[in-house]
Amino acid sequence: MLRLFRRDPTPLPDHLDVVHEGASYRVLLKRMPTARRFTLRVRNATRDVVITLPKRGSLSAARDFAQRHAAWIAARLHRLPQAVPFVHGAHFPFRGEELVIEHIERLRGGIEILAEEKRLRVSCSGEHLSRRLHDYLKMEARKDLEAAVKTHCASLGFAPRKVSLRDTTSRWGSCSASGSLNFSWRLIMAPPFVLDYLAAHEVAHLVHMNHSDEFWAVTKKLAPRTDHAEAWLYAHGSSLHRYGAGD
Ligand SMILES: [Zn+2]
Repeated sequence: MLRLFRRDPTPLPDHLDVVHEGASYRVLLKRMPTARRFTLRVRNATRDVVITLPKRGSLSAARDFAQRHAAWIAARLHRLPQAVPFVHGAHFPFRGEELVIEHIERLRGGIEILAEEKRLRVSCSGEHLSRRLHDYLKMEARKDLEAAVKTHCASLGFAPRKVSLRDTTSRWGSCSASGSLNFSWRLIMAPPFVLDYLAAHEVAHLVHMNHSDEFWAVTKKLAPRTDHAEAWLYAHGSSLHRYGAGD
C-alpha cells in the first residue's frame, strides 16, 4: 500500500543511558539532518555527552552506537576537571581572587564578602546555598558588565546598552543585530581585565559586526589588554564552568 504522507521520524527522547562497569552515563540525543553518520562528543564546559544522529538514524542504532563507545565515554568523563559544587568550604574564583565559601545555617539570608580573610559568607538555609550563590554572582556580574559597557559605549559616543546574562558555554559574549549585548555571568569569576575586555569586544561590534582588522583596532583601543585577556580565556576559560556545576 502506498503511504500518502511520509512519516516523520519517531520523535527522540532527549537522552538515553549507557552502562559501563556498573555505572550509568547519560547521553544527550540531537538529531542533525545534515549529519551523515553518528558522532559522539564529550563537552568539557557542560560536562555532558552528546550523540548526533543523522537524518534517518534510529533510536536503536543510536543506543548501539553509544553502548559500543561506553568505555570511551566513561574514560573521557572521568578525565574532566572535577566539578566544584557551591558548598561550605569550597573554593572558587571571584573577580579573579580565590574565595572560600562559609555557610552559616540561618533562616534569614544574607551574603557578605570578608575580603581580608578571602571568605564569602552566606547565611541561609542549607538547601538554598547554591541558588543563593548563583543569584549573587549573577547580580555582581550584571553590575560589573553594565559599568564596563557604559564606559566603553561612552568612549564611542553611544548611549549605554542593555546587558543580558546567559549561562552559555560556547561564547562569553555576543552582540545581536539589534545591538543587544549578552554575556556569560561566569565572567564575574575571571580577573576584572578579562570581563572588561569582553565588554569592550561586544561594544566594538556595535561599530563593526565582524572580526575585521578595523574591529580589532576599536577593541584594543577600548581594552588595551585584549591579547592578554584572550590568552587568559584560552588557558582558563573552560575551567570557569566547573564551579557551581552539578549542584
Ligand atoms: Zn566577536
